[in-house]
Amino acid sequence: MAEEGGREEYLFKIVVIGDSAVGKSNLLSRFARDEFDHNSKATIGVEFQTQVVEVDGKEVKAQVWDTAGQERFRAVTSAYYRGAVGALIVYDISRNTTFESVKRWLDELNTHCDTAVARMLVGNKCDLDNIREVSVEEGKSLAEEEGLFFIETSALDSTNVRKAFEIVIREIYDKVSRKIL
Ligand code: GDP
Ligand code: MG
Repeated sequence: MAEEGGREEYLFKIVVIGDSAVGKSNLLSRFARDEFDHNSKATIGVEFQTQVVEVDGKEVKAQVWDTAGQERFRAVTSAYYRGAVGALIVYDISRNTTFESVKRWLDELNTHCDTAVARMLVGNKCDLDNIREVSVEEGKSLAEEEGLFFIETSALDSTNVRKAFEIVIREIYDKVSRKIL
């Protein structure tokens, strides 16, 4: 947070993590540009996108980072996590293996970031309910165990995408206001 001409500026770095192809890049493009990419080109290049959100009448800049394909090689660098105050840990509700990976992502997050970082477990692709492999209850109970927020989203049909980011941003804002972060 920086003070500029008496006006507070909020810039929150939020990282999106999770296995390859769970929909991280599409969640980000849905949030930042309201777009969905059907072609699934491995996102190379775009490091982060900034989206302005209003919280309590204040302008908050959410700088959301994308792993840009690094996760395929299990090579997400410490620079990626540096300075993050929020994290979305994403799995695909139609692929149980991506849910099983969540603990590993949490371990990695915890080695790089303070435990106060606002964390949301995101079960993406909830439009694929007919081929679901992870129940809502499983998602919820893991989130409870690990002290995370929980939401199911669909980047494809926009379900809860804004909400997922807004809950995290609100939590960060509250923690920053209370000087916990
Ligand atoms: P990333 O590797 O985690 O960044 O995943 P991508 O955003 O590249 O998405 C991987 C694949 O899943 C692509 O084929 C997307 O079109 C698809 N996808 C992403 N989000 C959704 C979703 O909410 N629903 C469905 N059905 N497919 C999705
Ligand atoms: Mg990607």
